[in-house]
Amino acid sequence: MRQLIANRPVLQMTSELGRIMAAARERERAGERILHMERGEPDFDTPPHVVEALAKAARDGYTHYPDALGEISLREALAEKLTRENGVAARPEDVVVTAGGTHGLFLLMQALLSPGDELLALSPYWMAIPKLVGFASGATLRGLPAYLEIQSGAWSASGFADALRAALKPVTRGLYLNTPNNPTGAVVGRAHLEALAQVAIERDLWVIADEAYEHLLFDGVKHVSLASLPGMAERTLSVYTMSKSYAMTGWRVGYLHAPAALRKVLGPILAFYTTHGVFPAAQIAARAAVTGPQDCVETMRRAYEERRGLLLDGLAGCAAIRTPPPQGAFYAFPDVSIARGDRDIGALADEWLSAGVAVLPGTAFGPHGDRVRLSLATRRDDVSEAARRLASHAGAAARS
Ligand code: PMP
Repeated sequence: MRQLIANRPVLQMTSELGRIMAAARERERAGERILHMERGEPDFDTPPHVVEALAKAARDGYTHYPDALGEISLREALAEKLTRENGVAARPEDVVVTAGGTHGLFLLMQALLSPGDELLALSPYWMAIPKLVGFASGATLRGLPAYLEIQSGAWSASGFADALRAALKPVTRGLYLNTPNNPTGAVVGRAHLEALAQVAIERDLWVIADEAYEHLLFDGVKHVSLASLPGMAERTLSVYTMSKSYAMTGWRVGYLHAPAALRKVLGPILAFYTTHGVFPAAQIAARAAVTGPQDCVETMRRAYEERRGLLLDGLAGCAAIRTPPPQGAFYAFPDVSIARGDRDIGALADEWLSAGVAVLPGTAFGPHGDRVRLSLATRRDDVSEAARRLASHAGAAARS
């Protein structure tokens, strides 16, 4: 038979995470105990009052075709939250409810990228980004390494602005920013965001601001929403999700805040043609999450912060795994070049898997073959044990 799969580059893309998770599952089936440091899946349950709100909403009849833009009562609550918490003067009509942040990013790539356009993504970037750009036919993605430079203090705000200006090409239409960042845990502070805003305004670029981890911050660091900076609301597309803040990854509820100019395509065309909107009862439950008690968010944030401490302590004496302290999200992105030696990073990940620790190679996030991502979204004791195993394994390898 002729080849069934269409000849489209996005369908050829592979997933490093999928490969590692499959290899880990195989070992588990053979009876090995694997510590899962590779995946970004909160190990907490969704708060009970949110689950109850779903059940009640389903009983109350929120079970019919949804409005493609989202339930108005949820959009009102989100506009209020954006105004109060993010400093973005939002109206319900500026908000589109999406099937998670991934779908929000998908809609934006579709709405913003024409064939021939380039998206410049600060890197390392979340591994879905190449695929999401890949679905926008004819558009391309280029990375600009930035988060590690900002995190280490190597780039001042003006150094960052210069690097951005130097990286832009005539085909660059927009930027992708993700703070707090997956996978480095870097948080881009106000001065650096102002520098980015200045360049975006000067070069007339739009910016996708992925704020999926807005509530997961350590050391008292504050999150600044790019759209709250002067002149930025009209060119910033902000992406949010219930997934991380409320441990609701399976519910598939997120939202966008976008300038009015995009309104006529984001909801009625794109959201409608891709999902027909989000399950209404799940939207009512998301409203309960956003408007209800927020102590559940703080409880999870504290747990991630504690696990970060355990990871950093466990790796502190290990010269072969050098870990910049994450200030947010729930990942660390250590430099493992010494542990890796002259092998490729996939070979190191395979070796660590055979030592019982699943990690994700840095190449999943751009040209970062000296790094791996370690996730803190795994049980507290597993984080300590993984750090212990990695330090002893990498230390032994570095000595041999
Ligand atoms: N952005 C980033 C940076 C992420 O890490 C994720 C989830 N891993 C998302 C967006 C989207 O998450 P979801 O689709 O579950 O809302």
